[in-house]
Amino acid sequence: MKALQDKIRQEGTVLSDRVLKVDSFLNHQVDPELMAAIGQEFAARYAEAGVGKVLTLESSGIAPAVMTALALKVPMIFARKQKSLTLNEDLIVKTVYSFTKEQKNEVAVSKKFLSPGEKVLIIDDFLAYGEAALGMAQIVEASGAVVAGIGIVIEKSFQNGADKLREAGYRVDSLARIASLADKQVTFLEE
Ligand code: 5GP
Repeated sequence: MKALQDKIRQEGTVLSDRVLKVDSFLNHQVDPELMAAIGQEFAARYAEAGVGKVLTLESSGIAPAVMTALALKVPMIFARKQKSLTLNEDLIVKTVYSFTKEQKNEVAVSKKFLSPGEKVLIIDDFLAYGEAALGMAQIVEASGAVVAGIGIVIEKSFQNGADKLREAGYRVDSLARIASLADKQVTFLEE
C-alpha cells in the first residue's frame, strides 16, 4: 500500500536492525485518514470472506482494527492485557510473549463476544515473530469461531512470523512488507 510505505519512509525511525518506531501515525499519535485508508484496504481484501468480527490486541491494534470493522460494518473486539485473569471463567485467556516489552502477557477476550462458527479477521499493527497473532488465533479457535485471516499493517518480513502463520494454515495480508532495517534504512520487499 503506497500511502503507507510513503508514510513509513517519511516518518518512521529505525531504532535498530530489528525495531521500527512509528509513533507519529500508528503507535502513539494516530493519523485517522491513513487508518481509514488501511481499514478500507483490509475490508476490500476480505469483502467476500464473510467476516463477522474483527479482533485485535490493545492498544496499538485498535486504530487500524476499528477502521477495518467500520468498513466491513461489523463489531471490533480488542483482546485485553491484564494480570491474574485466569480465575474468571467467562474469559478465554492465552499467554503471549511481547516482542517490544520482552515479557509474557496474559491476553483475554470475553467468551460472550465470540460465537462458534463465526468468522473472525485478526488485525495487528506489526508482525515480527507471530506471537501476538498466534495468541489471538488460539483465542478465536478456543471459542469455536474461525480465523478468516490475519491482516497486518507492517510486516517485518526478515523475522519469521509471516512464514510461521502461513505454515500454520492462516491467510496473511500485510499492507507494508519490510525486507530490512539494516543501516538505519527501511527497505521494502516490493522494491
Ligand atoms: P510478534 O508477536 O509478531 O513477535 O510481534 C508483534 C507485536 O510486537 C505487535 O503487536 C507490536 O505491538 C510489537 N512489535 C513488533 N515489532 C515491532 C516494531 O518493530 N515496532 C513496533 N512499534 N512494535 C513492534
